[in-house]
Amino acid sequence: MSEHALFNLSAGPVQATARTLRSLSKQIMYHNDPEFIRIFDETTEKLQRLFKTKGDVIIMQGEALLGLEAAAMSTIEPGDKCLNLVSGIYGHLYAYYIEAYGGRLVEVRTDYRKVIDPADVEKAFKEHPDIKVMSVCHSETPTGTLNPIQDICPIAKKHGAISIVDSVSAIGGTEVEVDEWGIDICCIGPQKNLASSPGLAPVSVSEAAWEKMRNKSRPVRYSYMSMLDFKEQWLCEKEKRGFPYTMFTNEVVALNDALDQVFEEGLDNMIARHKTAARIARAGAIGMGLELWPESEDICGTCATVVKAPEGVDEVQLRRLLYDKYRITISGGYRDMKGKVFRMGHMGTAAEPALVVMQIAMIEKSLHELGYPVKLGSGVGAALEVI
Ligand SMILES: *Cc1c(COP(=O)(O)O)cnc(C)c1O
Repeated sequence: MSEHALFNLSAGPVQATARTLRSLSKQIMYHNDPEFIRIFDETTEKLQRLFKTKGDVIIMQGEALLGLEAAAMSTIEPGDKCLNLVSGIYGHLYAYYIEAYGGRLVEVRTDYRKVIDPADVEKAFKEHPDIKVMSVCHSETPTGTLNPIQDICPIAKKHGAISIVDSVSAIGGTEVEVDEWGIDICCIGPQKNLASSPGLAPVSVSEAAWEKMRNKSRPVRYSYMSMLDFKEQWLCEKEKRGFPYTMFTNEVVALNDALDQVFEEGLDNMIARHKTAARIARAGAIGMGLELWPESEDICGTCATVVKAPEGVDEVQLRRLLYDKYRITISGGYRDMKGKVFRMGHMGTAAEPALVVMQIAMIEKSLHELGYPVKLGSGVGAALEVI
């Protein structure tokens, strides 16, 4: 028995490719080694390609939440009216940042089985024309839904507000068009669809967002959370630049390699692979008589499929059985969703038809063992139909 699951089919972090693992294990470099600087610049350019932006990209050194919190801290002037869009757990949690950094909170909320209606965003801006910052989660991993960012962000732009978007579990699994959609600050993480390690927080930042940060009465500088430090100390003239602090060199080397793999596969092909995996997972879940958490399939995310725990089945027991007996990790309900759902992950290396079908098969088998009335093969059969 190995010390961890054989198949990590969770909602992230997921298993890396053998190639990314080799990159992670390369010799540690001095962060001012010209070779490291070359790799860092290359990684930044590839991230611009990934984000579809000609604007700035910084690589904050920490888990993805660092970028999200730093965005709030860097842009919100105490007293600023901030519109937070809530259709799930990550959206809900963003309000804590807004309030911690002195924002006056305005929220548009929807049932966690639905997504944000752009018309409600428009209405909020009409009611509160003085909104300065808008925050929204793109792919709500805990509830398995996808907000229509492409329609929401232009509304913020039109009303002169800075948009902060959590695309951590969206990037690589669905379209993200930073410039086209006018996203001011887009935060991602390497540990979801990109299948790299969870230690970096790449963030795209628009000119309008830098302006907002500089115009704060007390701009955030000389802080680990500072985005301006990256702009002013690193994204300046090449002769003068220096890292604001030591970079996580191995994480950067691994991300650089993971991004090469994205473009070798083709970003569009990678997105298509995630959409296919999600479609197979949904068919399998429905085929075995389960109900999806999202209200309809057209709003479902592509990185994980969230399924209602069936009546009489303890999802913790289901996951324990899958782990102990079949060496598979899937995810449970996150925070408020605990006990209500389980999550079938299909991100990055796990977004493969064969792995999704295996996952469906073993979930089916485990549910059967737990006494849930499922006809063996019904989920797998439905899944195979859509491949
Ligand atoms: C994974 C994820 C993050 C990263 O934060 P953790 O909670 O530490 O995993 C942020 N936002 C979304 C939507 C995520 O899926």
